[in-house]
Amino acid sequence: MWSALVVLSLVGCAVAGPPVTRSRKDIEAFRAYLERSRTDDGLRLESRMLANPKASAWENSGKFQGDILLNDKQAELLEQQYAGVAARNAYIWPNTKWPRNTVVYDFNNEFTHAQIIAIHSAMLEIEEHTCIRFRRKTILDRHYVRITGKPDGCYASLGYWKDIPVHILNLGKAEPGEGCFINSIIIHEWFHILGFLHMHSTYNRDDYVHLLWENMKPGYEYEFERFEYDVADNLDLPYEYASVMHYDRFAFSKNGRPTMLPIHTDYGLMGQLDYVTGWDWHRVNRHYNCPHAWSSEEHSDESYEHEYKVEENAAVEDGQEDLADDLPQEEVVEDLPQEELAPDTPQDFVAEKVSVVDN
Ligand SMILES: [Zn+2]
Repeated sequence: MWSALVVLSLVGCAVAGPPVTRSRKDIEAFRAYLERSRTDDGLRLESRMLANPKASAWENSGKFQGDILLNDKQAELLEQQYAGVAARNAYIWPNTKWPRNTVVYDFNNEFTHAQIIAIHSAMLEIEEHTCIRFRRKTILDRHYVRITGKPDGCYASLGYWKDIPVHILNLGKAEPGEGCFINSIIIHEWFHILGFLHMHSTYNRDDYVHLLWENMKPGYEYEFERFEYDVADNLDLPYEYASVMHYDRFAFSKNGRPTMLPIHTDYGLMGQLDYVTGWDWHRVNRHYNCPHAWSSEEHSDESYEHEYKVEENAAVEDGQEDLADDLPQEEVVEDLPQEELAPDTPQDFVAEKVSVVDN
């Protein structure tokens, strides 16, 4: 389970580094970098895109690794790991999966109807390919994702965090299909909410990509840090250039030249934003222990599609529109101990379907 290729799932997280103690100066520089990534610098996404037009909107969003919004605890733990003072052989972060595979969300009523449809269709796509379910926040919910539209970029909190009730998913407002409202980018941000890091930060990425440090913006080299092998789970799936979670060639370039090149043939797909790959879905399904995700079938995503096609046909015959919440709850493997469940999650809860509504 630990030996193969991909580290994406955030079971724990640590910046890879040599077993030597870092200098105080290095540690302070890393801390400054983390703080910078958590501070609103007042720049809008458009101006950052002008500075590096070849990179994607999510890469240009000014957060940790481009678009990950770290909370206080996460930044502190990353710094401890970087400094080599945190325990390395433990899962230093608690389980960051959403309880009962269900993400609770809310809007702050600032999006157009077309933008809401775009957000909802990305969520529906996730529901169609995985056992993840979305549910609108109710008065009983304390933990949820607040979807906002600030103009500084596209970014999201990382995983479910029990101590911090409000998680953020921000999509700078744009016409659907543009900027942060490219469907794959919306799904990419949801993947961070679900607990996923970027593909290029896997411990063995140096076997797959070649970094061109000389082309990186000074001070942004940390965006290319790897994460420790012993605290992240590769989910037994291969490294994938085409993953919707992979940097493209030009992330954090200072001169328009590539900062990252594939070592093997990538068929021009590294950093693509046209679609979410079968393995992207497979990783989500494995991380959340969705039904059949760990079976021996080579492409369990196909089995999901098949399952949902069957469900869809049945739903159509019944005159129902939505099929995504038809997965029987008892098939969802509950790998969280009961005490890990948010206290505000009713035990008899049934995930609601996502419904597109007027704002
Ligand atoms: Zn990202």
